[in-house]
Amino acid sequence: MSTHSITLNYQQLLAAIREQELISQRTPGSVKLLAVSKTHGPDRVREAWQVGARDFGENYVQEALAKMAELSAPQSATPGITWHFIGPIQSNKTRDIAAHFDWVHSVDRLKIIQRLQDQRPAGLAPLNVCVQINLSNEDTKSGVDLQQARNLCAAVAQQDKLCLRGLMAIPAPCTDPLLQRAAFRPLAALFRELQSSYPSMDTLSMGMSDDYAAAIAEGSTMIRIGTGIFGKREYPGEQS
Ligand SMILES: *Cc1c(COP(=O)(O)O)cnc(C)c1O
Repeated sequence: MSTHSITLNYQQLLAAIREQELISQRTPGSVKLLAVSKTHGPDRVREAWQVGARDFGENYVQEALAKMAELSAPQSATPGITWHFIGPIQSNKTRDIAAHFDWVHSVDRLKIIQRLQDQRPAGLAPLNVCVQINLSNEDTKSGVDLQQARNLCAAVAQQDKLCLRGLMAIPAPCTDPLLQRAAFRPLAALFRELQSSYPSMDTLSMGMSDDYAAAIAEGSTMIRIGTGIFGKREYPGEQS
C-alpha cells in the first residue's frame, strides 16, 4: 500500500468517526483512534504520524521495541507517540512492556498485574491499564468473564504503578451490525457500572476495522484500527 493511501485512509477514517459520533449522539471528539501498526514497518508508522496519528497499538513485544528504536533515532524522530500494547501478554515479556509502553489493553490475570506493578520503572508515570474481557469465548483464549473482570479491576486499582483506565474486548468476527452491537453491549454496561467505583476509568477500548461503527454506537471511547489505516497485513506477525 502506498504512502498516499495511509494518509487518505487516516483522514477518511477520522471523518467517518466524527460522522458516526453524530449519528450515535456521542459527544464530538469523544472517540479516540488507536492506529494498530503491528506487522507494519517504521516508515508506515512515520507516515501515519505525519498525518496526525499519535497513538499506536502493537501486539508483539520484540517487533515493537525495534520500531520504537528506529522511530526515536535523532535524524528520524517522531516525537509525541503514545505506545499501547494490545496483544496477549506472556509473563516473560512484562518487563519490556512495563519499561517501554504507556498503555496495556490486554491485562487478564493477577500474576500479570503484579509483575507490571513490580517492573514499572521508578520515574515513569503509572502504566495505563485496561482489563481484557472475553465476550465470545471460542475465538480467543485471552480475556476474562465479567465477574473476573470486577476482581481484576479491583486489583489494578490497588497498584500505585498502574492506573486503571478501562476495559477492552475483541468480539468474534460478525458482519451483522445489530449482532455486533449486541456483542458490545454487556461490556459497555459493565464499564458504566465500574466507572462509579473507579473514577480513573475513562476508556472503553472496543471496535476494529469491521465493527467500529457498532462500537461507537454502543459507547466505545477508543477504537483500534489496523487494516482500515495501513491496509491488509501481509503476514500475521511474529510471535513475541
Ligand atoms: C490487530 C488488532 C486490531 C486491529 O485489527 P483490524 O481488523 O486490522 O483493524 C485491533 N485490536 C487488536 C487487539 C488487534 O490484535
